[in-house]
Formats: sequence, structure tokens, C-alpha cells
Amino acid sequence: MKQLIVIADMEGASGIFDSNREACYHEEMYPQGTLWRSYGRACITSDVLAVCNAAIDMGIDDILLYDMHYAGCKEYNVILEVLPAQVRVFDLEDRCVDWGRIRGQAATHPYGIVTVGQHARNGETNAYFAHTIHTPPIESFWINGIHVAEIGESVMCFSGVPFIANVGCAASHKEAMELSSTVSCITVKNKEAIWEPSREETYPIIYDGIKEAMNDYQRKVPYPEQEMYSCKMYLTDGYHFESPRKFSWRGTFSNQCAAWETHDIQTALSLFWKVHEYIKSDKDQ
Ligand SMILES: [Zn+2]
Repeated sequence: MKQLIVIADMEGASGIFDSNREACYHEEMYPQGTLWRSYGRACITSDVLAVCNAAIDMGIDDILLYDMHYAGCKEYNVILEVLPAQVRVFDLEDRCVDWGRIRGQAATHPYGIVTVGQHARNGETNAYFAHTIHTPPIESFWINGIHVAEIGESVMCFSGVPFIANVGCAASHKEAMELSSTVSCITVKNKEAIWEPSREETYPIIYDGIKEAMNDYQRKVPYPEQEMYSCKMYLTDGYHFESPRKFSWRGTFSNQCAAWETHDIQTALSLFWKVHEYIKSDKDQ
């Protein structure tokens, strides 16, 4: 069985720009908004569908999808009903991010991983909705010297699994390339070039791009498995860490930086939200 892992975010989906940013606002968080349901979901669905259809046409027979945008909200952003029968979703409570559970449900050796709907990290120029997981208060998050946002978390969670393609905002490819230099980069919007195509225009670009990437499978390399994962979380201005007297992992806190290290990536990523609990706004003093 050839299993493909597909990780979808939404800020980097086709058809969603600064002018219609409300398309990204999940209805469970913004009940007054209508654009997410009437338009946004169709955009990310079209991108995911293009990835899945191309993969299936290239011989993939099992696809595991994680729809990570607004994790914690029950309803999927991707309209699952229109996806092919080969696509399954990870079993997670309200899509909550649990990288250990995600990795555990996948095959020991999946065929590859594709990230789709991806945005750039906080600080990248010419990017749509650049942020690092939760900005503010997160200024940047580093693992083993790489500034890691949603793409990095996903690809490192699947350390050792070939990274086949990244689909999204042109500015998102920088992170993807730092994780694996041979990854195929498929662009669906480009702020620098002022290129804002519709989802109908990008569907064939994604479909052809994934086919081409899979044709080049022999050259695709993973982010390699490491013996140690060293993490650093930096905060934006206006936030600081209130260092706990005691905590149960190996790490340190300073005013605006927390560091920790582990032997496996799932633990490293799960500590992100533990460390996050000690972030305080400067105003709350
Ligand atoms: Zn998102």
C-alpha cells in the first residue's frame, strides 16, 4: 500500500487574499462571518482535491489528511464529501493538534508527505498572512536551527518521510526548501508578482505540479530523523515568559525566549503548548 500524508492549512489556499481575508475565518470562531462557508471552504477543497486526484492518478491508494486550520473547531475547512474514497482523515478530537497521535495513525513508512494551503513564516516579506503557528505572541519557533512554522511542524513530525511537494503562497516555499532542498514548490499566489489567480486557474497547476513531483520521486528526500530536537521559542514585543519554579522537561526560560530539547519530535512539538502556557502579556502585570 502506498500511503500519502497530506497536511492542509488555509491561509495559503488559492483564491484567498488580503481583500477577502474573511474567507479564512472559521465560522465557529466568527459566527457573524459568511465568507468562510460561502467561498473559503471551496478554495482549500479545490487545492486538496487537485493534490489527491493527481496522487491517485500516480498510483497512491491511501491518503491520510490532516486539516489543521483552526484546529479545535469541529467542522472541517475541507469539504470532505467531495474527496475521493481513498482519502481518510486522522482520528482527532475536534481536529486538535496531537502530533504523537497523528504520527501513530500513519504507516511506519509512508510513501511521502505533501503540504498544501501553506502560508509563510512570521517575518517573511511579500507574504499573505505570514505567521508562525500563533503570532502574536510567537515571534519565531526554531527546531535544530530551522525557523519552523506549520510546514516545519508537519514535515518534522514525519521526519524520515520524503517531502514531495509544498503547495501555497510563493513566500511559503522558503521554509519548505530549508527542510528539504528537493521539495517541489507549487505556487498558487504571489504577492511580489501581484499574481492572484482563482482556484479554477490553480487547480490544473497543482494537479500537474504534483504529478511532476511524483515523477521525480527518486530525487525527493525527507527531513532526516535526528537523535535530538532542540527547540527555541521567541516572543513578540509586549509578551514575556513567567518562568515556572518547576517543570517536567529539560529546558530553560528567559524573559522572551524558552528553550527545550527532547529525543523525539512528537515530544518536542507537544511541549510547544506546555511552554506556551507560561506566556504572559506585559499588560497583565
Ligand atoms: Zn491556518
